Amino acid sequence: HLDRIAAVDGAVHAFLHVSGESALAQAAAVDQQVAAGEPAASPLAGVPLALKDILVQQGVPTTAGSKILEGWIPPYDATVTRRLLDAGVVILGKTNLDEFAMGSSTENSAYGPTRNPWDLSRIPGGSGGGSAAALAAFEAPLAIGTDTGGSIRQPAAVTGTVGAKPTYGGVSRYGVISLASSLDQVGPCARTVLDTALLHEVIGGHDPHDSTSIPAPVPAVVDAVRRGATEGVAGMRIGVVRQLSGEGYQPGVLESFAAAVETLRAAGAEIVEVDCPHFQYALATYYLILPSECSSNLARFDAMRYGLRVEPTGAAARKAGPVSAEQVMSATRGAGFGAEVKRRIILGTYALSAGYYDAYYGSAQKVRTLIKQDFEAAFAAADVLISPSSPVTAFGIGEKVDNPMAMYLNDLATIPGSLAGIPAMSVPSGLASDTGLPVGLQIMAPALGETAMYQVASAFE
Ligand code: GLN
Repeated sequence: HLDRIAAVDGAVHAFLHVSGESALAQAAAVDQQVAAGEPAASPLAGVPLALKDILVQQGVPTTAGSKILEGWIPPYDATVTRRLLDAGVVILGKTNLDEFAMGSSTENSAYGPTRNPWDLSRIPGGSGGGSAAALAAFEAPLAIGTDTGGSIRQPAAVTGTVGAKPTYGGVSRYGVISLASSLDQVGPCARTVLDTALLHEVIGGHDPHDSTSIPAPVPAVVDAVRRGATEGVAGMRIGVVRQLSGEGYQPGVLESFAAAVETLRAAGAEIVEVDCPHFQYALATYYLILPSECSSNLARFDAMRYGLRVEPTGAAARKAGPVSAEQVMSATRGAGFGAEVKRRIILGTYALSAGYYDAYYGSAQKVRTLIKQDFEAAFAAADVLISPSSPVTAFGIGEKVDNPMAMYLNDLATIPGSLAGIPAMSVPSGLASDTGLPVGLQIMAPALGETAMYQVASAFE
């Protein structure tokens, strides 16, 4: 895999940092264990993995795709990183992402875009485009992503790979640089459903270091995939969400989705149509809640604690006497944050300000509850819900960079599940007839219902 990275990553740019030496040392340690006849630490011992550069790994540079963290070396491991290392998984390096995971194309990375291995002139999705591209380019068989509004599922869809966002609280967020704490979730990515499930079981389960971690064992998703392979989906009730297909979706995506519905029907599933009327407000709700939370989370980048520090220039610097901490902070944040990050900090600060709190943030929280209630009603009629993962196949690099609204619309189908905290995953459902590019099917389940989700996913293996 290191050879493969050396051969193709100049063109793909999935990695921000390759940990060649430590990866080889880790692999050698697993070999030694095997040679000594010791039991493997896990079914994934010795298997290489690409880690999204928003999870910390002790001693390895972590940037979150931002200049403001350039040169910062984390002094500890994220819980997920620790669990991977303990399981013998070999960490190949850190993958590219939109700055602080804000984006749908990886073009907001301060270190340049990642390219889609299916067509290098196109985006690999975002924010986890680096992890998805590493899988699609065969640079790694496993990857870790994070999903706040779709950053695992949409990149999986547009690169023809698999990615799962677990139930909120199902995987520890300790050591994951926060975007929006009530939405962020770490999840497994791979090229097959079974590999995704194996990785899910390695990283999931309770962690006392994360106060929102669910005190329950990780769902038995590997068994669920095996059950899916033998028993299929006969008798399962599968709901098609009326609001998550149709207007705004590319014809080739809708065609592939219709074919996936027929595959499930032919396999004996009962297909029901469900209505989720408040989903039309999901995007607006998300773009109030997310900026509000991120404006608070990103306050920690104050020029004192991490990475970059820029001395003020101009009037502040010419003034006699010492410059203030505030002036250093302002110069550092001005130089260290990109345009999208600044846009969201300003939006969030505004939405949380005293005069507007009730009108914006307060209302958004109420609509979030209505969206959750829509899901509860839908899950009374169906075991899992399905939709396309992304409204479009991979678009061209540069096509949407100047239009934030066009960029935000890529998460039309994934955001409702994020707001409700339910598990959701994307599996490849074939190629679109109009563009010839991969399409993803989204499968959503009730909180902690990962086993049903993986069982249905295995129908597309
Ligand atoms: N694309 C969405 C956003 O820009 C989702 C990001 C994510 O899931 N991290 O917020």
